Amino acid sequence: MISTNDSSAGYPVLKSSLTLNHISLNSHPEEVSLRQTQSSRSKHDYHHEEIKVRSRSLPFIHRFITNWLIMDPVLKRKYQTHSSSGKNYEIEKDPDVKFVFFFGGRLLSIKGKPINIITGALIVIPVVIYCIFEAKWQWHHLSPAVVITFIYIWLLAFCHFWKAATSDAGMLPKNLHIPKSINNEKVDNPPDEYFNSITLPSYGNTKDGVVVKYCSTCHIWRPPRTSHCGTCQVCILNHDHHCVFLNNCVGERNYMYFLWFLLLACVGCIYLLIISIVQLCYYQIGEVSDVASMSQSVKHFPLSLFLIIYSIVALLYPLLLLAFHLFLTSQNITTREYLNNVYKRKHNDFVNVFDTHSIAKNLYINWFGSSRGVNLTFPRDKYQPGDIRYEKIEPLELFSIEYERK
Ligand SMILES: [Zn+2]
Ligand SMILES: [Zn+2]
Repeated sequence: MISTNDSSAGYPVLKSSLTLNHISLNSHPEEVSLRQTQSSRSKHDYHHEEIKVRSRSLPFIHRFITNWLIMDPVLKRKYQTHSSSGKNYEIEKDPDVKFVFFFGGRLLSIKGKPINIITGALIVIPVVIYCIFEAKWQWHHLSPAVVITFIYIWLLAFCHFWKAATSDAGMLPKNLHIPKSINNEKVDNPPDEYFNSITLPSYGNTKDGVVVKYCSTCHIWRPPRTSHCGTCQVCILNHDHHCVFLNNCVGERNYMYFLWFLLLACVGCIYLLIISIVQLCYYQIGEVSDVASMSQSVKHFPLSLFLIIYSIVALLYPLLLLAFHLFLTSQNITTREYLNNVYKRKHNDFVNVFDTHSIAKNLYINWFGSSRGVNLTFPRDKYQPGDIRYEKIEPLELFSIEYERK
């Protein structure tokens, strides 16, 4: 039996960093008891020694690349022990969690198809073509301001894309509210938390209060507007949606970056479209050598035509998404709430308690006014061995199924 006590960060910490495949939880979360058989303990010790030997043999450059530059915490378990000098981002004992960290835990992404790299390439390609082939001509014939403005809009758009794709969307730490009614040997009743939700009263409408649910995978009571992302396998504060083009969730901490990326991407596309049209049609108002008609102009500036087509095609999807998110932010509703409560149900009595009933106020809150908040998972803090937030604890459904079979 291993008991827990509070760490300096205020979270329950297990005294031993054992893998929690089978846990027996009979008491209050702060006094969680964990059981492990003797055989698995010796197996663990053997494994511990083995990975220690392997970690010592890793050369510096290997450790630099795999522990700092690109860090897959699940992969790290295979070749290196969880030393007490590690940081939280290096520790993940749940293989279902899909995060990969970069630059010492400063950036993150989701493992899987690297669609965010393709999105990034689609943003970079037109500006590279523009800078190599078009910028010089426009600088001399139109104005340096035309070129500088485009580069400035593009840089802003790219920075917002970068932040939306690589920053924490509002992850919540796991295993903070472990139900006391689970018992590995016997379950008299299913845990209350699994079936319960609390409705907090809200201003002006007590019927449609704010529902607070228990996450049976993360073992936490979710704050209002939080939901569990099946791809990231974590609960996200103010969850909007999981964006495959960013390879990241969009939530409390990166929604504003996402919105401004959409807006700036659309502005950048429209701007590029206009200046490319001006370049192609310039022969009508100014002197361009060997150009007297549109066909000659296309021959002279073929990449302007390419950029016109590119910017029209690239504009379509972000413009539709921007229009949709302008509508959502004007109502102060998330994509998830809209799809679950408004779009799918024809006759619903859903009341959005977060709507301020002022479009201007709602837009201001979402585009300018909401705070990014703080990172609640503290990825770069020092790892406390046995920190229960990083332990693998089976989702409650699995416990239920297992018990039903018995
Ligand atoms: Zn969850
Ligand atoms: Zn996600």
